[in-house]
Amino acid sequence: MTTLAGVIGQADVAADVRADCDVVIVGSGAGGATMAAELAAAGVEVVLIEEGGYHPTESFTGDSMRALRTLYRDGGGGMTIGKPSVMFAEGRCVGGSTVVNGGMSWRTPPAVLARWGSEVTGIGEADMEPYFAQAEARLSVGEQDPETVGRDSELLRTGAGALGWRIVANRRNQLHCAGSNSCNSGCPTGAKRSMLVTSVPRALAHGARLFADCRVNRITRSGRVMTGVEGRFIRPGGRRGPALTVRAKVVIVAAGAVQTPALLARSGLRSGSGQLGRNLSLHPNTMLAAFFDEDVIGWHGVHQAFQVREFTGEGIILTANNLAPPLLAAMLPGHGRELGELMADYNRVVTAGPLIEDSGTGRVRHVPGLGPQVFYQLADADAARLVRGVELTAEAMFAAGARRVLLPFGGLPQARSLAEVRRLLARPVPPNSMRLFSIHLMGTARMNKDPRRGVVDSYGAFHGAEGLVVTDASLFPGPTGLNPMETVIALALRNARHLIGHRSRYGI
Ligand SMILES: Cc1cc2nc3c(=O)[nH]c(=O)nc-3n(C[C@H](O)[C@H](O)[C@H](O)COP(=O)(O)OP(=O)(O)OC[C@H]3O[C@@H](n4cnc5c(N)ncnc54)[C@H](O)[C@@H]3O)c2cc1C
Ligand code: SF4
Repeated sequence: MTTLAGVIGQADVAADVRADCDVVIVGSGAGGATMAAELAAAGVEVVLIEEGGYHPTESFTGDSMRALRTLYRDGGGGMTIGKPSVMFAEGRCVGGSTVVNGGMSWRTPPAVLARWGSEVTGIGEADMEPYFAQAEARLSVGEQDPETVGRDSELLRTGAGALGWRIVANRRNQLHCAGSNSCNSGCPTGAKRSMLVTSVPRALAHGARLFADCRVNRITRSGRVMTGVEGRFIRPGGRRGPALTVRAKVVIVAAGAVQTPALLARSGLRSGSGQLGRNLSLHPNTMLAAFFDEDVIGWHGVHQAFQVREFTGEGIILTANNLAPPLLAAMLPGHGRELGELMADYNRVVTAGPLIEDSGTGRVRHVPGLGPQVFYQLADADAARLVRGVELTAEAMFAAGARRVLLPFGGLPQARSLAEVRRLLARPVPPNSMRLFSIHLMGTARMNKDPRRGVVDSYGAFHGAEGLVVTDASLFPGPTGLNPMETVIALALRNARHLIGHRSRYGI
């Protein structure tokens, strides 16, 4: 396997390491890698630290179980505390969640930016336009080559089209994607322009150093002034490796919306507004399984090639998203022979469902000895949105020719017609019976120009601290209602420009 010059992993380190730099960045995902590349390109001395390992493109095989073990935190099996609990996934590797994400790349909707504008300065559509354009150019954002679209997505388009619904081609950060549909296991062709193949190498080419396999345990400081971070390399099997101590003038935290508030809290940092860790939204989603007579072979062709946008006014988006066999088996009801019979139809299944813009919020708390715990209570209105989204998905599937659908609510039988789905859903669906997933966690260190209402200011600087900046999905004042990665990247580009424009204030 090739390794990039400038990447130092646990195997390269025999003893404790000390480093000095202008800026240390925790986390190499969408926010951290973007920030690292921008600052390094501007001549700032950057150290980037990533808890996960460095896994180059040629190591990706499409083996989803191996990917869950090596590229995800906790094997992708995070779980919120609440009723119902929501299963969530975070990437943990060089490149962060962008290595395992689906590559959907959408600008923050103008209505969301307008809403955020009352809390954050310089975030109007015109302010953000250059950063979106820069992100899209750097990551080759565009529509799929038509021959790579999967039959599952085509069936969703057929159904939505027959119903006269608005459906759009997804924009993705890819260049001539081959449609191999293993984006969630790491793109084996490098077509997906994740941070691993874009901003990380760019940062390193401009002189940044990257410590991989190294978990930052705390931020060091002298009163209000940050002085660096302390971490520890992780040996195979989770064994403790040597310590890493970095002294820096600026600490940038980009560890994602679950880990960032936890790292800040365990470093003793408090937000005067009491908002640190609060305001979590997560775009809950769920999926039904629709069975067709024809071969769908959902694993051929890129997933989520389209989005049904007819119901965005209600906070609902519908997509088709082929699941690898182990993930589908985990989602389907039943065990043993019953499950085996369902799985025998794997090649004739479309898995599709709603992603909703949630109105309720949750909280990340750092619990000593346990680490970050995610509390989230699904709001009644959001539960109703999910039920409606499932009904709409079933409608599209039947319009496309599905013979039956399995609903993602425990105890509900399968339905062979839309009328049957409606009859089933006319009875209240207990939220506890819903099978929910999230891959979009946001908002736990929210921006607000007013220190009484937010954790960080309009450019990510922590209120009440010096030399501390947050730049990841934690920043969002609320949910975007759409795939969040491009928003994270555009905000990181904007925050980097701001930091570079105020170098003397930060002494870098
Ligand atoms: C399976 C999946 C599919 C997704 N699909 C899409 C999609 O198609 N489109 C879209 O827009 N969004 C998608 N997302 C969401 C998107 O990828 C995230 O919103 C985005 O990557 C968040 O950026 P971030 O910088 O906040 O965090 P991440 O990109 O998650 O990066 C955080 C990094 O920090 C590291 N870290 C955490 N704690 C520490 C520590 N203490 N020390 C050192 N390092 C640490 C983590 O290991 C991780 O690598 C998906 C996410 C997942 C998991
Ligand atoms: S579908 Fe495209 S982007 Fe996804 S893994 Fe395959 S080649 Fe890469």
